[in-house]
Amino acid sequence: MKALKYLGPGNVAFREIPVPEPGPGQVLLKVSACGVCHTDVAFRADPGPALPAGLTLGHEIAGTVAATGEGVNGLEEGTAVVVHTVWSCGRCRQCVAGRQNACLDTGGRQKPAHGPGTRYDGGMAEYVVTPARSLIPAPRLDPAAAAVLPDAALVPYHSIRDALGLLTPGSAALVIGIGGLGQFAVSILRAISPARIIAVDVRETARESVRGQADVVLDGTDDDVARHVLEAAGGYGPDLVLDLVGSTKTLQLATSVVAPYGTIRVPGQGNGTFRFETIRTTTSIPRGVTINRPYSGTFQDLQEVVALAREGRIGIGLQTYAFEGALDAFDDLAAGRITGRAVVTMN
Ligand SMILES: [Zn+2]
Ligand SMILES: [Zn+2]
Repeated sequence: MKALKYLGPGNVAFREIPVPEPGPGQVLLKVSACGVCHTDVAFRADPGPALPAGLTLGHEIAGTVAATGEGVNGLEEGTAVVVHTVWSCGRCRQCVAGRQNACLDTGGRQKPAHGPGTRYDGGMAEYVVTPARSLIPAPRLDPAAAAVLPDAALVPYHSIRDALGLLTPGSAALVIGIGGLGQFAVSILRAISPARIIAVDVRETARESVRGQADVVLDGTDDDVARHVLEAAGGYGPDLVLDLVGSTKTLQLATSVVAPYGTIRVPGQGNGTFRFETIRTTTSIPRGVTINRPYSGTFQDLQEVVALAREGRIGIGLQTYAFEGALDAFDDLAAGRITGRAVVTMN
């Protein structure tokens, strides 16, 4: 079969390899679609020593069950599924409590549990082997729309769901960065919360993509953007700030607008920093604010995301590519030509 592999810095290419076999507790999936993420593009440029050369890329996977390994029950051949990207131990106290993304059997407190396309062979291939317990049935969903759920939808969902207690009527949520994740964030906020939605991006095409759904859409290049956010959020700022960029500039915006006892969630990986201080009279953030840098989402979060998608309540613009054209998707994403999410579909 054909697989798209990371072969070294700057080198991602197709290779012909044997179809893998599922071991005990594993499932062989026939891949139907696989999303392309900024992480993949970053891996192609230079992943650092963490990524082994020869790894098949692709962590946003939709497929159908083709074969099951020993001890796997209840997954009929042909069942349409999506794959949770967090392949955790399943036995530690965090996993048992349903927090697979905080697994305590990963080799260190700074190392989250990885999955397909980041540690194990991923879904940019005709077939992929996954743990049976990483699968969520996703019947009657378009494969491309299903494929983006385990990352582009799951990441914002995890933060929004966790902050729902703050998102009461009259509250506001700010989404910074309207790529695929940001479009999903706006869509999810609209579906599950009454909060007023404010979206910020520096690109007009990105802002255009959420004009019908967000309450207020602001230009991130505007020097007065923080003041406009405060005005749109009733003067005291948004209760949830979801920063999908994570640069020093966006963290600056986040900390300068967040409401007292609000929360800032930063899935973005833009190498930003911000100053935390405990000066008695003024600090960089109002009292009570929490900041966290979440990782992916839980298995339950993914189940709920799939339910919302199946009910037609969330979705974003997709740009699809044939598997053979996967590298065009990488190039288009790297060049900023994608406004929603790029997805590779198999025949
Ligand atoms: Zn990703
Ligand atoms: Zn665990």
